[in-house]
Amino acid sequence: MNLKKDIETILVRGASLGDSRTGAMSFPIYQSATFKHPGLNMTTGYDYSRANNPTREELEKTIALLEEGCDALAFSSGVSAIASCISTFSSGDHFIVSEDLYGGTYRLFEDTFKSFGIKCDFVDTSDREEIKRYIKKSTKAIFVETPSNPLMRVSDIKAISEIAKENGLILIVDNTFLTPYFQKPLTLGADIVVHSGTKFLGGHNDLLAGLVIVKDEFLSDRFRKVQMATGSILSPFDSWLLLRSLKTLHIRMERCEKNALEIANYLKEFDSVSEVFYVGLKENKGYEINKKQSIGSGAMISFKVKDEKLVEKILNGLEIISFAESLGGTESLITYPFTQTHADMPSLYKEKLGIDNRLLRLSVGIENINDLKEDLRKVLEV
Ligand code: PLP
Repeated sequence: MNLKKDIETILVRGASLGDSRTGAMSFPIYQSATFKHPGLNMTTGYDYSRANNPTREELEKTIALLEEGCDALAFSSGVSAIASCISTFSSGDHFIVSEDLYGGTYRLFEDTFKSFGIKCDFVDTSDREEIKRYIKKSTKAIFVETPSNPLMRVSDIKAISEIAKENGLILIVDNTFLTPYFQKPLTLGADIVVHSGTKFLGGHNDLLAGLVIVKDEFLSDRFRKVQMATGSILSPFDSWLLLRSLKTLHIRMERCEKNALEIANYLKEFDSVSEVFYVGLKENKGYEINKKQSIGSGAMISFKVKDEKLVEKILNGLEIISFAESLGGTESLITYPFTQTHADMPSLYKEKLGIDNRLLRLSVGIENINDLKEDLRKVLEV
């Protein structure tokens, strides 16, 4: 009965291999806010959907298996998952955070939680010595995004987890870009994994979701209390939609990665392109570490054009690749981090990192590779 299942099987069949009550292959959507008690002081295990819902529970159990965690919790968006994570800490606690990371996470630390007394330093987490330099008495956690958004820097999860353990810190990893299909941070020593389920896990640009996966019961209790108290849960319908999307994650990840590698190499051929950032390219600084800690490079590419004037031509001229915020879907998207995803970062800070007005970010989808290349050729040839 307890046959060990590989990741593809868990993705397709979910934690329960279908609904045990009815035999339904597609796990049912329990669209109910509340559940009838069988009697006084009795419960079916489900009382009220903010606390627990069977469809969300099936998603959470499936994600926990995929990331090899003790428990998983589904939230209404990636930022709500990250916000819940930060809110399990206290005023005065200090975080070390990857300096190159999703702009919304930067905003949570630098704006929302600053006023509640949470302190942080943004640090180059691809440099271990730099992390050590910033640890102080009040430091409680390290928050890492790898590969990072948008510059595709790679941080060594295992090495950072050793620093975290030596100093009694919690290591949180945003695994949105690679997903558990390519990378499993908990098996490398992380304590908590967060996801924007909106991206590759959801994969079709049709839902918003966030996930937190924890390594032990202690963290599970801490998060269950926060989720119940703050209530930013994923709805039964979106939980079902995400379960449905997971069924094809392995196939989508393989295909978009194949397309991405070909496009990253193709971009290098253009005189109008000055730099290409993709962790699957051997010349990328993080190539070896990424290879050591994951089994894939994903489908996120950033590139810089030589002339800022070309940006408008590219964004207006592409026909198949859509100019839209977000990433990780079957459809290829292009974003301008400078004014979109990283708009809330101060200009000087962006300048220091290299997120400038010549940088574009591509999320490569699963369309025909020749069509994608032709779309790019039209706008990049000068
Ligand atoms: N983490 C990463 C790496 C992201 O790119 C994003 C959004 O782009 C988020 C978290 C936030 O997720 P959501 O948009 O689902 O709130």
